[in-house]
Amino acid sequence: MTEYTIEFDNEGYNIGRLAILEYQYKKVYISFSEIEIRSRNSSFQSFPSALSRYILEENPNKEICFYFLPDVTGNFETAYFIFMYRLMKTANVKFLNEDEYLDQQILPFITPEDIIAHKDKMRSRNPANKSTYITRSSDNKLQIFGKTYGANKYETTILCIAISEIAASEVELYEIEEGGLTKLPQKSKEAIESLGIVKIYTSNRTIERVDFEENNSLRSARYTYSLLEKLGDKKCAFCTCEIPQIIEGAHVWAVADIKRENQLTQDEKLDLALDGDNGLWLCQNHHKLLDVSILRISENGLLKYRTQISESAKKYLRSITTNSQLQREVITDGFLRYLRKRNQNIPEELYREMRY
Ligand SMILES: [Zn+2]
Repeated sequence: MTEYTIEFDNEGYNIGRLAILEYQYKKVYISFSEIEIRSRNSSFQSFPSALSRYILEENPNKEICFYFLPDVTGNFETAYFIFMYRLMKTANVKFLNEDEYLDQQILPFITPEDIIAHKDKMRSRNPANKSTYITRSSDNKLQIFGKTYGANKYETTILCIAISEIAASEVELYEIEEGGLTKLPQKSKEAIESLGIVKIYTSNRTIERVDFEENNSLRSARYTYSLLEKLGDKKCAFCTCEIPQIIEGAHVWAVADIKRENQLTQDEKLDLALDGDNGLWLCQNHHKLLDVSILRISENGLLKYRTQISESAKKYLRSITTNSQLQREVITDGFLRYLRKRNQNIPEELYREMRY
């Protein structure tokens, strides 16, 4: 029999959940499932720190495994669990006894687009599932937006490590700070950054404020996150375009106009500029057409066009506008306040409904 050593990590979140087996110069990290599956929040709380430690392990002869312990109360196969297992497999985690506990075969994700599609599907089944969002920016960068405290930090950590395995180029992770809540655990950050693919940016009030004061077209991570939370993934409100690279966050009450409100403090202005109710996802065409007031949104959510344009322009507008009615969930009281501000100098009688 060959000699081996086992070390149990009893620090912090890992209490009793990580064993490190050292055997013939190889280090095997074994993470154990939680015994009681109570909620999605508690079910993966040990694993990310085990994964981070494994990644930061300097011995190149290493492996990370996951071992299911019999669960007393829960179900291992909810959509969320399957998603997490697939991320773990993508991050090269070896499952030691999945056959005993899972009916379906767990496959790794092949591309970041696979992950985006899977998340979309989960969200459409459970719209309350608001955690991390993955999308692409106008310059084709893969972007991850996430709250990085509480339960979401587990998902964000595993997601970033998994994506590092399959992304073809640099990925941006935006940590959305709120109310001074803590960021990703230091070890997670170190592990993610050590893989060299995901670059971490922090979005906080100070950074947002500088951006707000210097630019009229706010390219703010917080604003993008607010829109993702309210509206879901990038999709134009007035057509079928959902190509994220050409979908923009369009302010209803424009940033330049908010800045001119002298009776408001800078902080109040910033709040208005970052509010998810003050925005729509629009494709570049619909965004521009709205900004130059060729299009106008009525308070009932109906999109109308300016009558004093050419017949060919009207024809074109009808051809690109496949939906001229905003969804009811979008038209909140907050949204209407911004819309009234926008429309105050754009008389409704100059506009007409789209007819098809
Ligand atoms: Zn559009």
